[in-house]
Amino acid sequence: MEKKKMLTGFRPTGKLHLGHLHGNIKNMIEHQKEHENYFFLVDWHALSTEYKDPKNIKSNLIDCVIDLIALGIDPEITHLYRQSDIPEIAELCLYLSMITPLPWLERCPTYKEQQKELKAKDLSTLGFLSYPVLMASDILIVNADIIPVGEDQLPHLEITREIARRFNYLYGDYFIEPQELLSQATRVPGTDGRKMSKSYGNAIFLSDDYETVKEKVRSMITDPKRIKLKDPGHPEVCNIFTFYKIYENERIEEIENRCRNAEIGCTKCKAELAEIIYNSLKVFQSKRKELEKDLSVIYKILDKGKQEVKAEADKTIKDVRKKIGID
Ligand code: SF4
Repeated sequence: MEKKKMLTGFRPTGKLHLGHLHGNIKNMIEHQKEHENYFFLVDWHALSTEYKDPKNIKSNLIDCVIDLIALGIDPEITHLYRQSDIPEIAELCLYLSMITPLPWLERCPTYKEQQKELKAKDLSTLGFLSYPVLMASDILIVNADIIPVGEDQLPHLEITREIARRFNYLYGDYFIEPQELLSQATRVPGTDGRKMSKSYGNAIFLSDDYETVKEKVRSMITDPKRIKLKDPGHPEVCNIFTFYKIYENERIEEIENRCRNAEIGCTKCKAELAEIIYNSLKVFQSKRKELEKDLSVIYKILDKGKQEVKAEADKTIKDVRKKIGID
C-alpha cells in the first residue's frame, strides 16, 4: 500500500524549544516510519515577520536542521528541504492568491492574535496577511495527506482545505484536502503561561543548560492561592502541573495528590520538574554537538531533499497551469 504523505514546516527564527518538540516534532518522529515525510524549513514564512532584520534566517535554518536530526528525524526516510529551494511553491502561491477571498484571511484568528502579541513589529503587510495562502501552497505543491498540527494551527489548515476545494471547483479536481494529525500535547505553555514562543520570551530551549532550565522553571507561575506550605494546592491552575502532565503522565495522580494535600512545597516541586526536563534533553544535546562538527553533512542532506521535492513540485505546477489553461 502506498504510504500517505505527511508534511510539516518549521520557521527558522531561532533555536527550537519545548513547544516545538511536544507540539509537533515528537509526533513526527513517532510517525515517520509509517508515512512518506516532507519536512521543510520555511524561510519565506520567517521573512513575513523578520523582513526588517533577516540576517539570521539562514544560520537559524541550519541550526534548526541540526536540531531536528539530533532529535531523531531520520534524513534517510524524510524529504528534508528548504522552502526557498522550491520556487514552484511561490508560483503556486500566486495562482492560489488569485482565487482566495480576502475575508478568509482577515478572519483567521492567528492573524489578529499575532498582530496583537507582536506589537513591536509592523505586521500590516501583504506577506503577513497572505501567510495562510503560502502555507496552503507548501502543502498542496506535494498534495500532502496529513499535517501534524497544534490546535492553534487548525484554522490555517481549514483555509488550505477551502482553497483546495475552490481550486477543484473552478478548474476541476486536482488537490486532495489534507487532514490534521493533532499532537498529544497541543499547547505547551511558556514560563509566563502564554503559548511557548521565542517571540514572547517565555521559551525553554532544547539547548538550555541545567542552570538555565532550573532558573526558567523556578520563575514559572504556580497556584496563586498557595502562599504557605500547608495551603492545599490547585494543580489545575498551575503551569508546572501542565508540564508534569507532559513529562510524567504515568504518575500524574500521585503528583496531583501531593499538591492538593500540601505534601510538597512549590520550590521542591519545581526543582524536581527542572531535573526531569533537563535529563530528557541530555541525549539530544550530546548528539547535537557531534553534528555541529561537520556542517557539510547537513548541506548534503538539504540538497538531497531539494532534488527529491523539486521533481514533484515541477509536475504539480505543470498540471496546475494546464488545469487553469495557461500552460
Ligand atoms: Fe504547582 Fe507543584 Fe506547587 Fe502544586 S505543588 S501548585 S503542582 S508547583
